[in-house]
Amino acid sequence: MPSTVDVQNIDALNFDVVVIGAGPGGYVAAIRCAQLGLNTACIDAWENAQGKASLGGTCLNVGCIPSKALLESSEQFYRLNHSLAAHGISVENPSIDIGKMLARKDKIVKILTGGIQQLFKANKVTLLHGRATLLADRHVEVRDQQQQVIQTLQAKQVIIAAGSAPIEIPVAKTDDQYVVDSSGALAFTEVPEHLVVIGAGVIGLELGSVWRRLGAKVTVLEALEEFLPMADRAVAREAQKQLQRLGLDILLGTKVTGSKVLGDKVTVHYDDQKGSQSMVADRVIVAVGRRPCGAGALDPSSGVKLDQHGFIEINSHWQTSAPGVYAIGDTVTGPMLAHKASEEGVAVAEILAGKPGHVNYKTIPAVLYTHPEVAWVGETEHSLAEQNIPFQTGQFAFAANGRARAMEDTSGFVKIIAHQKTDRILGVHMIGPNVSELISEAVLAMEYSASSEDLARTIHAHPTLAEVVHEAALAVDKRAIHKAN
Ligand code: FAD
Ligand code: AMP
Repeated sequence: MPSTVDVQNIDALNFDVVVIGAGPGGYVAAIRCAQLGLNTACIDAWENAQGKASLGGTCLNVGCIPSKALLESSEQFYRLNHSLAAHGISVENPSIDIGKMLARKDKIVKILTGGIQQLFKANKVTLLHGRATLLADRHVEVRDQQQQVIQTLQAKQVIIAAGSAPIEIPVAKTDDQYVVDSSGALAFTEVPEHLVVIGAGVIGLELGSVWRRLGAKVTVLEALEEFLPMADRAVAREAQKQLQRLGLDILLGTKVTGSKVLGDKVTVHYDDQKGSQSMVADRVIVAVGRRPCGAGALDPSSGVKLDQHGFIEINSHWQTSAPGVYAIGDTVTGPMLAHKASEEGVAVAEILAGKPGHVNYKTIPAVLYTHPEVAWVGETEHSLAEQNIPFQTGQFAFAANGRARAMEDTSGFVKIIAHQKTDRILGVHMIGPNVSELISEAVLAMEYSASSEDLARTIHAHPTLAEVVHEAALAVDKRAIHKAN
C-alpha cells in the first residue's frame, strides 16, 4: 500500500513534530502545530473500504459523525410515524430505504474525511498513510499493511493520538455479522427484528435508539443497577422514562454471561435478580466501553509508560515518561470524547510552540444524542454533596416554554447548580430538545466563571429554547417568571 505522499519526495526525514493518529486529537494537533510554524507530519493508519486513507479517526469514520447521521435519519422517520400527526400532517405507510440511509451516512463521512486531507494540504501538514511505531529518541517507523517499513522519521517532538477501540468481552465475541461492535451497528443493512444491546452507556443508548426508531424491538442489558450513574439523578430518571417510552426495554442489574450464535439467531445468557436467564436476538451490539490504543504505537524502546488500564501515563502538560513525547485524547485518561481530544491537541501544540497550552477539565460538556437529548457540564448534586460544597439549584421545564410547545417537543428540563454563597455556576444539567446545542451557553458561562445571576441578567431571544436556561438561572434565586417559585 503506497503512502499518500510520495515518501521519496519528502525533503527531510526530520520534522519538528510527528503526530501519530489523525483522529480529532491528532489532526487538530497537527493543524495547530503547522499554524504555529512547526514543520509537522501526521501518520494515520485508517483505511476506508476502497483501501484509501480516511482521516478523522474513530470520530469521523465510525463514531460521532456516522452515528449522528443515522440518529438524524431515524429521528426523521420516527417523527413521520409518531409525532407529525399532532401538526395535522399525515403520510400513509411511510417507508425507509436503509440502503439510501447508509449511503447518505457514508457520503457525509467521505466529505468530512476528505475535508481533513484538504486542511492538511492547506496547512502544509505532511500526511503519511501507514502504521507508526515510536522507537527510541523520537524515531518513528511507518509500515504499510504488509508490515514493510515505508519510512522512518526523526522528530524533535512527538504527539501520540492513537485513540481507542471497542472493548471486546469473551461472553459476547463479535463476528461482524450477528454480534457486532459499534462500527458494525452503523452498517446493519436491514432493521433487525430483535436487537439486544449490551451496555447502557452513551454509545449503546444512541445506537439502540437508531434501530428502535426504525422499528426493531430493542432490549438493552446493563450490568449496573443504576441508569446513567454519571448524570444528574433527575436527568437520568427522566432519560430512562423517555427512552422506555420510545420502546427501549432497559434491563438494569443484568449482566451478560454468554452468547451463542445458532443459525441466524443469537442466544444471549445473562444473570439478573431472578438468576440465570436467556433471550434470543437477531442481532447483538456489544457496547461495553472503549479501550485505549496507545500501546499499539509504541516499541518498548520508546520509554513511554502505560498505566494498569493501558492509558499512556502523562503529567499535567501531557508529557509522557519519554522526553519530548506527548499523549492526548483517548490514549490518556479522562472522558473519551472528541472535543476533549481536540482541546488537548491544541494545548499540546501550543506548548510545543512555546505558548501556555491549557485545558479546563471542569468545563467539558457531555452529550447523549438520544431523543430527548441529554447534556451536562460540571458538577452534579451528588458530586458536590460528596465534597461538602454547599449549593442551590434552579430548574425549569421545557413544558412551560413557548418554542418547545411550538415544536411539539416539551419533555425535559434544565437544572442549574450554583454555589450557595458565591452563586458561581458549578454545574448545568439538561434533558430536552436540542440541549446538545443549549449546553454551549452553560459551558461558556462556566468558562467565564459566571454566576447564576449573570445568566439571569443575560437577554435571551424570545421565543427560543434557550429561555429555559434563562428561567432556570432565575429559578436559582426563586424568581423564575413563568412558573410558581
Ligand atoms: P481516534 O479518533 O480513535 O483516532 C485515532 C487515530 O489514530 C485512528 O485514525 C487510528 O487509525 C490511528 N492510529 C492508531 N494507532 C496508530 C498507529 N500506530 N499508527 C498510525 N495511526 C494510528 N465523542 C464525542 O465527543 N461525541 C460523540 O457524539 C461521539 N460519538 C461516538 C459514537 C461512537 C459510535 C463511537 C465509537 C465514539 C463516539 N465518540 C464521540 C468518541 C470519539 O469518537 C472519540 O473520543 C474520539 O474519536 C477520540 O479521538 P482520538 O483522536 O483520541 O482518537
Ligand atoms: P460506557 O463505558 O459508558 O460506554 O458504558 C458501557 C456499559 O456497559 C457500562 O455501563 C457497563 O456497566 C456495561 N457492561 C459492561 N459489561 C457488561 C456485561 N457483561 N453485561 C451488561 N452490561 C455490561
